[in-house]
Amino acid sequence: MRLSRFHLATTREAPADADIVSHQLMLRTGMIRKLASGIYTWSPLGLRVLRRVEAVVREEMDRTGAIEMLMPTIQPMELWAETGRWKKFGGQLLKLKDRKEAEYCYGPTAEEVVTDYARNELRSYKQLPLTVYQIQTKFRDEIRPRFGVMRAREFLMKDAYSFHLTPEGLAREYANMYAAYTRIFTRLGLKFRAVQADTGAIGGNASHEFHVLADAGEDTLAFSDQSDYAANVERAEALAPTTPRPAPTQPLARVDTPTQKTIDAVSAFLKVTPARCVKTLLVRGADGLVALCLRGDHELNEIKAAKLPELAGELALADEADIVKHLGCVPGFIGPVGLPADIPVIVDRSAAVVADFVCGGNATGSHYTGANWERDAHGTRIEDLRKVVAGDPSPDGHGKLAIARGIEVGQVFQLGTRYSAAMGVTVLDDAGQNRVLHMGCYGIGISRIVAAAIEQNHDAAGIIWPEPMAPWRVVICLINPKHKPDVDAAADALHADLNANGIETALDDRGLRPGAMFADLELIGIPHRIVVSERGIAAGTFEYRGRRDTESRQLERDALMALFKSV
Ligand code: ATP
Ligand code: MG
Repeated sequence: MRLSRFHLATTREAPADADIVSHQLMLRTGMIRKLASGIYTWSPLGLRVLRRVEAVVREEMDRTGAIEMLMPTIQPMELWAETGRWKKFGGQLLKLKDRKEAEYCYGPTAEEVVTDYARNELRSYKQLPLTVYQIQTKFRDEIRPRFGVMRAREFLMKDAYSFHLTPEGLAREYANMYAAYTRIFTRLGLKFRAVQADTGAIGGNASHEFHVLADAGEDTLAFSDQSDYAANVERAEALAPTTPRPAPTQPLARVDTPTQKTIDAVSAFLKVTPARCVKTLLVRGADGLVALCLRGDHELNEIKAAKLPELAGELALADEADIVKHLGCVPGFIGPVGLPADIPVIVDRSAAVVADFVCGGNATGSHYTGANWERDAHGTRIEDLRKVVAGDPSPDGHGKLAIARGIEVGQVFQLGTRYSAAMGVTVLDDAGQNRVLHMGCYGIGISRIVAAAIEQNHDAAGIIWPEPMAPWRVVICLINPKHKPDVDAAADALHADLNANGIETALDDRGLRPGAMFADLELIGIPHRIVVSERGIAAGTFEYRGRRDTESRQLERDALMALFKSV
């Protein structure tokens, strides 16, 4: 590819509205352009990278035995009503109407479509197991689209679905896909980790997420320092403390805290550590208000809370008016002592073993000190409600937890019969019995991977592509092309030679000054740079520099070729 005929559009300035490095660099290199909130055009440069990721994913999917197909992006409402997700998927579902007022959505995922396909196509156990996949645009009306293609509304996903007669068959395919995901992220040159995951809106029994490790990640991951336990914090269990609760030593006393509404303010004012405070959150349950009590230094795990039977799947904080009406105080002063009897009090495992604690006094401007469970306050139940923190014991009993940030680039699920039962997917088994199928589903965020790779691979000069993702592996620089026909011819010959050897190479013949040209090529992150010069031609060498090198080297053709072959 001659870059003079390609459309490159790099800029020096960091764009004002991009908060993270990958988003900035994708804009500066011109890989993407924003069309609307969370909706991006992939430029010719960006598309080259996207296609590389897609190619690796496709190859590894094919290797697992999965078969590629293509499903529509526009999906009829009736299918989503069958699984209950037309309502349950919530605001992320972009709903549309056609001219006949028939309702559709733009697919955020394709369980319903593929399950409908399966119930029409599959008749006999002899057609099983079957795994199909597609690489198709998805749309989710994200509340906060941000970070460019990392959390976009329109994005490219690989989604695979498998169908089995038995749970054992599903478990085997799950392991097969897990292994394929491991190969994909390894081949792409990414530092990643698979973690146990919550099943979220997709549902099902077992699930793992694959995360690219990066500080910009929106997810928090917990790892054991001594075993292979790893889980999304959303799902990591906080074990019950092993030491029993100490006996009370202090009397219950009401103290004035006129303006102290937060744990930090109260603990500073009363000179007690946040770990000796109990904070109480009032949330709206299915049958009225529910109080959740946590140690002051711990945070509520909203996913765990939403699973409490009292909350029936949704976590919504009570609003101020509700709190004032039921307790007579404003938020910031709520506590478990003397709460109305019709409010269940669910206490986190760690908060349940604190004695002589500080908590809200259920009166504006007042707290209790010396409060104690059983003597002063009654928990309805003890539950695991909090997010794990660094240093917590690992739930598998081995070692302590460390915390890191991750970008979710893939997730695999054992769905079981969640969709096949709802939509009636059955086949005849070898005894002529009708059997409901077991399903798995397996997603990869193709476009998100591009951004995630940049988060992990960049420096002050720009992107440093892992070789399998680079738009070109090699770029040949033509300095001052018009005046030196020998140099032009030598560069042309090398360009043709490398491409003929399967090494994707670009020729930078844009006629830029060397400084500007090199800065541009470093920004877009081409792994290998070669400069052809008159002096080199005379000596039979090329000036070579790797993207991570600090200096150039003179190399003969064979040495150069060996460098590229070694990947
Ligand atoms: P997230 O928790 O990040 O919102 P998700 O768990 O809802 O993602 P899945 O349903 O598991 O997403 O979709 C499969 C993959 O699609 C994800 O692992 C992720 O890589 C990608 N993906 C999901 N939402 C987006 C988005 N808004 N923008 C880009 N990629 C996305
Ligand atoms: Mg997911």
